[in-house]
Amino acid sequence: MSVKIEKIRVICTAPEGINLVVVKVETNQPGLYGLGCATFAYRHMAVKHVVEEYLNPLLVGRDAEEIEELWQLMHQNAYWRNGPIENNAISGVDMALWDIKGKMAGMPLYQLFGGKCRAGIPVYRHADGRDLAELCENIQRFQEMGIRNIRCQCGGYGGESYGTLPQGTPRGANPGVYLDSRKYIRDTVKLFEGIRNKIGHEMNLVHDVHERIAPAEVIRLAKELEPFDLFFLEDPVNIEQTEWLRRLRQQSSIPIAEGELFNNPKEWKSLIAEQLIDYIRVHISQIGGITPARKLAIFAEQFGVKTAWHGPGDMSPLAHAANIHIDLAAPNFGVQEWSGIEPPNVVIQDLKGPHGALLEVFPGLPEFEDGYVYANEKPGLGVELDEKEAAKYPCENTVTVWTQTRRMDGALQTP
Ligand code: MG
Repeated sequence: MSVKIEKIRVICTAPEGINLVVVKVETNQPGLYGLGCATFAYRHMAVKHVVEEYLNPLLVGRDAEEIEELWQLMHQNAYWRNGPIENNAISGVDMALWDIKGKMAGMPLYQLFGGKCRAGIPVYRHADGRDLAELCENIQRFQEMGIRNIRCQCGGYGGESYGTLPQGTPRGANPGVYLDSRKYIRDTVKLFEGIRNKIGHEMNLVHDVHERIAPAEVIRLAKELEPFDLFFLEDPVNIEQTEWLRRLRQQSSIPIAEGELFNNPKEWKSLIAEQLIDYIRVHISQIGGITPARKLAIFAEQFGVKTAWHGPGDMSPLAHAANIHIDLAAPNFGVQEWSGIEPPNVVIQDLKGPHGALLEVFPGLPEFEDGYVYANEKPGLGVELDEKEAAKYPCENTVTVWTQTRRMDGALQTP
């Protein structure tokens, strides 16, 4: 008997103060359902609406086993395609269908992708600090946990916190996160020099530019960072300016990772085919889920480009698990960002919600141990959702301020 989709529901929850969007696809088979991540933390109600009002009626009664057919159907149904709200909504359903497929097969998803080609997933963590001393303390704390790859930032992505108007801004400037890009470049170069002097060369170091400075400035930063042997420079240019990567490539040997904001194959095809980047790091729900992410990983493999999927706090454990399953089976996997999930014994900086709540809402999330993450061996994604626990942490609709990044003259700069 074929497995039919009976209902598609959305559950929104914020166990750590970040809005997470989960899609549940229910079938006509007793006890058989799938879960997927559709998290677009800053537009969660819009995604919920697309899933429940458009994708649910489109897919009810359809065969849950036909993942490719249903993905194409969702992707083309609204005529206009590749937008972040639509792609996240599609991702929620897509991951849930893969979860169902794995449960039907009685296998963890990585088995359906060809099986493991590595035993564990090396991750990079985020170390931050107000100054070099604090940052190095945090790096050493991660080193003691077995971490070998670490992203190093000073005061987030540089600049002042929201609402602080620094000296030198014009009269009447709007509130924002102000960044003096020249100072940021000077401070960042000094920071990496300091880190290498203090901790030596054992750790692999990453720095995230977060698209916050002009492309011409990135070239200077990359050249000045070369002596400090970075693992990669993350998202150096904004997605509208990726032609600059060709020039960056010509002028610097620094490895480049780009793509956490990508939406559309047009944005990555030529960057990969021309080998202008070393690591492709999309946010997999943002491109439409596991189906397109698997295709992207295989495409990148042909050109010697590695994967380093986005793994921030503003995605659910279901999406982290999806990353890990793809990583386990991808020969061209590079490294996995790991910021959103902490075992209960680890102290979390800047946590907004109660500690450990995420683990209670999402039992079964991948385990971290000694620098590596491991998927559990349960069928499908292997992550559950406790809906009663989830209901204790309702999402909030607030105005997002961290994205209001500004140059010193008050003009907005991509965040
Ligand atoms: Mg990043």
